[in-house]
Amino acid sequence: MNDDLLLNIHKIDLDMANTNNFDVIIIGGSFAGLSAAMSLGRALRNVLVIDSGLPCNRQTPYSHNFITQDGKTPKQIATLAKEQVSQYKTITFQSGTAINATKDKKRFQVKTEAGDLFHSKKLIVATGLKDIMPGIKGFAECWGISVIHCPYCHGYEVKNEKTGILGNADYGFEFSRLVSNWTKDLTLYTNGKSTLPAERVEKLREHNISIVENEIHSFEHTNGQIQNIVFSDHSKTSITAIYARPLSTQHSEIASQLGCELTEQGRVKVDPFQLTTIDGVFACGDCATSSRDIALAVSSGVIAGGTCNKELIMEEF
Ligand SMILES: Cc1cc2nc3c(=O)[nH]c(=O)nc-3n(C[C@H](O)[C@H](O)[C@H](O)COP(=O)(O)OP(=O)(O)OC[C@H]3O[C@@H](n4cnc5c(N)ncnc54)[C@H](O)[C@@H]3O)c2cc1C
Repeated sequence: MNDDLLLNIHKIDLDMANTNNFDVIIIGGSFAGLSAAMSLGRALRNVLVIDSGLPCNRQTPYSHNFITQDGKTPKQIATLAKEQVSQYKTITFQSGTAINATKDKKRFQVKTEAGDLFHSKKLIVATGLKDIMPGIKGFAECWGISVIHCPYCHGYEVKNEKTGILGNADYGFEFSRLVSNWTKDLTLYTNGKSTLPAERVEKLREHNISIVENEIHSFEHTNGQIQNIVFSDHSKTSITAIYARPLSTQHSEIASQLGCELTEQGRVKVDPFQLTTIDGVFACGDCATSSRDIALAVSSGVIAGGTCNKELIMEEF
């Protein structure tokens, strides 16, 4: 092999190494991940944001309760956020899914589904949660449109409307009590035998909230706007909105792969500075909290970015 060729190969290796080596890799580039990226970009850090483009609120037509962005579509907010973060030239974006992360003494290695390998000194997990749609036909299509997870996000738009709560036991009671602030035309659907204690049934009755125990078969809807709840006995009832909190799970296994401890609720355990139980790994947004809200995801992202940068400074100085 001649010297020129050797030199060129060496240069390509170095370029590859430089291109694939970052101060920080952020996995998940939605509200939490982009906020962390902005803090780190403003701190002149070399950052890679890997994102698979599936935020949990993507089906909801309009987002609310995030100051300055109230009533915008999730896409509008995300596009503006990415535009602003892109101004910081040390931030690189990579579309795709991170499928594996490992840590040796010095650095993290992240592998994507496409087979790319990236390295960094620190890692931020901002991968959110995945909601598991129950077996009620039509539920998934109505999710985020007329099947609502949170009254603060979407309750104002259906205030005083004929509304249902899907739930049972203490959870069904507490959810009904909360939503009764937004509408008095409320029914609790337990989808099977009620397990509410007698005093709670009585309390609901005092507030004109009835309990329907019929098993639910499906939601009839038009483009995600629920029209009727259809029961297994073929009876149906008309409705404008129904609140439900389906089970959710971590969108990505990356934090668990790295050995990060999870909470009893299955969220990544973090301290007030968004540090996980593994050195150099931070988590922010929905994956690390039980309060799902854009403002909170943004706030925790900013904290994760700042803490991560401080750790880097302490190691360098
Ligand atoms: C239906 C619905 C409606 C909502 N409406 C509102 C509202 O009106 N107002 C409000 O304040 N909040 C609302 N929320 C809550 C809000 O959407 C979340 O709190 C917020 O999206 C959390 O941001 P995040 O960045 O943590 O996660 P997400 O926004 O869910 O983003 C996670 C990102 O990580 C990516 N990702 C996951 N795994 C990987 C991987 N392995 N590799 C690469 N990328 C990965 C995903 O593709 C996604 O882009 C709503 C939630 C739902 C479910």
